[in-house]
Amino acid sequence: MSFAELGLSPEILRAIDEQGYTEPTPIQAKAIPLVLSGRDLLAAAQTGTGKTAAFMLPILERLKKYANSSASPAMHPVRALILSPTRELADQIGANAVAYTRYLPLRCTTVYGGINMDPQTAELRRGVEILIATPGRLLDHIGQKTVQLNKVDVLVLDEGDRMLDMGFIQDIRKIMALLPRQRQTLLFSATFAGEIRRLAEDFMRDPETVEVARQNQTSEQVEQLVFATDSGRKRQLLSHLIRSRGMSQVIVFCKTKLSADQLSRDLKRDGHAAEAIHGDKAQGARLETLNAFKSGIIKVLVATDVAARGLDINELPYVVNFEMPNAPEDYVHRIGRTGRAGASGVAISLMSQDETRQHEAIERLTRQKLKPQVEEGFWPSWMERPAGMAEPVPAAPVRASAPERVRNDTGRSASARNGDWPRNTTPRERAPERERVDRDRGPEREQPDSPRSEGFKQANPVRRHGKRQREVPALLLPPRYKVEIVGRG
Ligand code: AMP
Repeated sequence: MSFAELGLSPEILRAIDEQGYTEPTPIQAKAIPLVLSGRDLLAAAQTGTGKTAAFMLPILERLKKYANSSASPAMHPVRALILSPTRELADQIGANAVAYTRYLPLRCTTVYGGINMDPQTAELRRGVEILIATPGRLLDHIGQKTVQLNKVDVLVLDEGDRMLDMGFIQDIRKIMALLPRQRQTLLFSATFAGEIRRLAEDFMRDPETVEVARQNQTSEQVEQLVFATDSGRKRQLLSHLIRSRGMSQVIVFCKTKLSADQLSRDLKRDGHAAEAIHGDKAQGARLETLNAFKSGIIKVLVATDVAARGLDINELPYVVNFEMPNAPEDYVHRIGRTGRAGASGVAISLMSQDETRQHEAIERLTRQKLKPQVEEGFWPSWMERPAGMAEPVPAAPVRASAPERVRNDTGRSASARNGDWPRNTTPRERAPERERVDRDRGPEREQPDSPRSEGFKQANPVRRHGKRQREVPALLLPPRYKVEIVGRG
């Protein structure tokens, strides 16, 4: 089936053609005709299935009749409202909307919290037909009377179950009350259980239900491992794992282009054949990198989620989440790169203290327990050791309050040199000494390593006697991270 057969106009077909979509995904094939018919829709489909286009393309088709190039804000009332639980998802939907409206004079904008409202206000005052918003920030704009919703024809609640999980139900009900009763409502959700059903009953008219195969199941072929560690030691741990596990081909996921670039540089310095691939790289360079990776010249491909989505690399032995993804669905996509077609694969996630929430969200979404473990020599400063376990000396000295160094912190020699800090000096007092040591040493390199020799054989009186030097008191940690350790270290 083609998009043209689904009844979409040439302007929309041209835009999706430019996106490289050749045929509709299953959810698109099912949902587009229903949305075009004006029916309410309850759809079970998650990120990664093409669900954004499944609702956005028919919405554009339906709003096409309102498209105009008038400068008057009155000519551009909000006709479609898309509510998203998270900023990231809102951003992603907004980017898609911009791409799909390329050849239509329909305006769209995205508003979410955490950033200055003023530019959003200016956009809203100019008038937009398609508004993508997180509920809280939308209510702020409504409160300031910068937006009116009385002309909304279509409401989309994206990731409805997540909205409810995140406690947005009251906000959603407030927003619903401001919308015309005569409208089309589309609800996308991973599950149709309990409250979602109630929401559908309250706000939808005889909705049609469509489902595509559950995407959030991780393959049993993929062994999933989570290593708890300190964020400043992730690169070292990764280097160590690549070597100790003999990874010959691995995609390493980062959240941003910046961190992907940084990591690939650091890995190269560690002696790995690594290269980054992300949206800022020219298409030619990306293809070259990809081919080098496929042919084995490059062994470690450091990628962002967005870049990886378009990559045609299917059967990988290893995937590493260097940074845990914000959206748990991305975890499923990422690790879905390995363990395909009956082959087995290993997915490794490196989790620092500030990523425990993402870890929990992944467990919730995939309905499985992923017990964090600890690699020898990489015991995280924020995790309490099980009772009775000898306390090995960490490779890096842990400072009481100063943030961890992110780069060049192999820690091995730093701890050896700094192990004799007077125990009662403050981190501030110690800092100049540490900086001087670093300057003297120049860029540190990781040795072909044995974590044991790195972390376990050294004497470090500061660490051994100074429990108060933990960055976070153990008692403040969520209990599960104190008890569910299966570490070997
Ligand atoms: P979504 O589930 O909406 O987050 O989409 C996941 C990814 O699939 C996005 O990067 C889309 O650009 C892409 N996508 C959506 N529809 C198609 C299609 N029909 N063919 C190829 N890629 C698509």
